[in-house]
Amino acid sequence: MSGPSFEELIERKRDGHEHTAEEIDLIVSAYTAGEVPDYQMSAWLMAALLRGLSADETVEMTAAMVRTGDVIDLSSVPGVKLDKHSTGGVGDTTTLVVAPLVASCGVPVAKMSGRGLGHTGGTLDKLESIPGYRVELTAEQFVSQVRSIRVAVIAQSPSIVPADRRIYALRDVTGTVLSIPLIVSSIVSKKVAGGADAVLVDVKVGSGAFMKTDEEARQLAHDLSEVGAALGRRVECVISDMDRPLGRSVGNSLEVMEAIQVLKGDGGAELTELCLTLAAKMLVMGRAATDESAGRAMACDAIATGRAIERFSEWIVAQGGDGRIVDDPGVLPLGRLERVVVARSAGYVTRFDTHDIGRAAMLLGAGRERVGDVVDPGAGLVLQRRLGEHVAAGEPLCTLYSSDAEKLDMGEERVDGAIHVGPVAVEPQSLFRSL
Ligand code: URA
Ligand code: CA
Repeated sequence: MSGPSFEELIERKRDGHEHTAEEIDLIVSAYTAGEVPDYQMSAWLMAALLRGLSADETVEMTAAMVRTGDVIDLSSVPGVKLDKHSTGGVGDTTTLVVAPLVASCGVPVAKMSGRGLGHTGGTLDKLESIPGYRVELTAEQFVSQVRSIRVAVIAQSPSIVPADRRIYALRDVTGTVLSIPLIVSSIVSKKVAGGADAVLVDVKVGSGAFMKTDEEARQLAHDLSEVGAALGRRVECVISDMDRPLGRSVGNSLEVMEAIQVLKGDGGAELTELCLTLAAKMLVMGRAATDESAGRAMACDAIATGRAIERFSEWIVAQGGDGRIVDDPGVLPLGRLERVVVARSAGYVTRFDTHDIGRAAMLLGAGRERVGDVVDPGAGLVLQRRLGEHVAAGEPLCTLYSSDAEKLDMGEERVDGAIHVGPVAVEPQSLFRSL
């Protein structure tokens, strides 16, 4: 290595200096090429977390990460190609609704998704609970499907931002996930490589999210847009509440069932509201609607006329999935064992510990503690009461599903205490925060 040694680069960041573009490129490319040991990269990541990265450094890091792999070419698809991303939540099944909904209104959605880790779910795990659904398509198949039915959702291939695979795995075990510049470079690099022209990011805030305060969420939203713009991609954001689980269901096949209900117009109020808001914004970004209220009307119409659920079905079938799930939820797996958690006393649901609800679903088998853990597609839970709703003593608060009796016990233990019931009804806070 000519120029500074990696040790010197770590010291520069430790001492609060700003790296040059060449230095950032060296850090990312040398680590991705296996020329830098994990212990040195860990030290640099911790220095970056503690000292921060400037706006320029974040842009350079994002660009350097994109350069480590392939960029999908969607230029053969007519129109503005869209992507959508959530920073991670509990019961957040919006992609399964919004992607076909927007596609059914004529705007192409090309998305690569990830798997769930820790307490948050992942779209790929949800899709894989559908019998037959293939998450792996070649780049040609992906582009061709977006051209023909305007929607495809696949696993990110190993050739897309290999730097992020390595760096994220290291951050996950070195206490360096919670850094806004590192999160921004991780998300934006993958979105740029995914090839879409514009991305709508749903930044989650609250007890079930990475960002715990409105200030952090606003900073993240701002930086995502700025860094996206610097790399030639339009990135817009909404900030939405993750102090409560978004839908009633948490778990893979259970969330597919709930997404189908929303697409049929029978979904819960909050999940439906978030999906309509995201779809409306995407229809404006995709130039199918002149403003958000027109976009919302289009999305509502697609649901009411059945076009949205029809496109969902076409999409699932195009990727090898069993289209019967639309009319028969029994085709989807469901945990063999069921347990109902009831209220000990009468009252109103005043609070969810959303992080613990997500952990409970994971313990039931719906998620993984470590990369490589096997997921039980039919495991999870269904909340029987929403925030602010009344419950009588002995009435159900939550139904748990698992295929493993031991996991059922662990999940129950975690749910118990994560749903708070009190004598006074509280008004749930608004689903959206201002940017
Ligand atoms: N999601 C990502 O893709 N990367 C991060 O760093 C955090 C959330
Ligand atoms: Ca039942």
